[in-house]
Amino acid sequence: MITSSTVRRLPLLAALRGHPVTEAVAPPGTAAPARFPGSAQLRHVDAGSCNGCEVEIAQAFSPVWDAGRFGVRLVASPRHADGLLVTGVVTTNMATPLRTTLEAVPRPRIVIACGDCAVDGGVFTGAYGVTGTVGDVVPVDVEIPGCPPEPPVIIEALRGLTGR
Ligand code: SF4
Repeated sequence: MITSSTVRRLPLLAALRGHPVTEAVAPPGTAAPARFPGSAQLRHVDAGSCNGCEVEIAQAFSPVWDAGRFGVRLVASPRHADGLLVTGVVTTNMATPLRTTLEAVPRPRIVIACGDCAVDGGVFTGAYGVTGTVGDVVPVDVEIPGCPPEPPVIIEALRGLTGR
């Protein structure tokens, strides 16, 4: 059991108690209506990323940025998802898996292209073994630019899905 004396003896616990680690964000905007009001489950697909976008997505769902507080979750199966969060250019080997993964997502569904490579090819445009952008392979609904996009940018786009 964590008591007050335990907290005093452990500087990290004391720091967490005094200063919450989660970053504050602005109130939700009033722009477009949310596609999945309240909550959205997403299956992440790495279609050919350098892994930089994955690092930022991991940060967006970490305790610091806590995307979960806005009703967004990453799930393991596309059959449990409302849509796909796709990173990277689509490599030749990932074009068919990306299509079949999307087919496993029940309708209505959404596709988010996350990062410059997913949106327009980025630094891998024209590279060997690349089929194209995410939009060249599956229909894209939301684009998140950046190389890589930082957690606040990812969070803002995801909040647009849930309206929270
Ligand atoms: S957008 Fe940048 S960080 Fe993301 S996969 Fe492409 S090169 Fe890597």
